[in-house]
Amino acid sequence: MKYLIWLVVLLAVVVWFQRAKKSMLAGSDAAGEPAGESEAPAPKAKRFRRGADSGAETMVQCAHCGIHFPISEAVTHASGAHYCSEEHRRLASF
Ligand SMILES: [Zn+2]
Repeated sequence: MKYLIWLVVLLAVVVWFQRAKKSMLAGSDAAGEPAGESEAPAPKAKRFRRGADSGAETMVQCAHCGIHFPISEAVTHASGAHYCSEEHRRLASF
């Protein structure tokens, strides 16, 4: 019985790892993934593009609120418009 519990725990860890790896590879811009059974911390780390530290970065303006921010943080709409957040992209699409 004890082994069964450990087996389940191990399985959960393996599944979680594989999901994390997959979402990292996919770059998961699609938020709203249902929370798993484990208390997996949400991947907060933003993926930094190479050359982000190389100094000047292109600044874009949010099409909804007008704030300026680096393009690496932009949420880009299918139409090509940039937004400061997923929230504003969603608001603007209505
Ligand atoms: Zn905005």
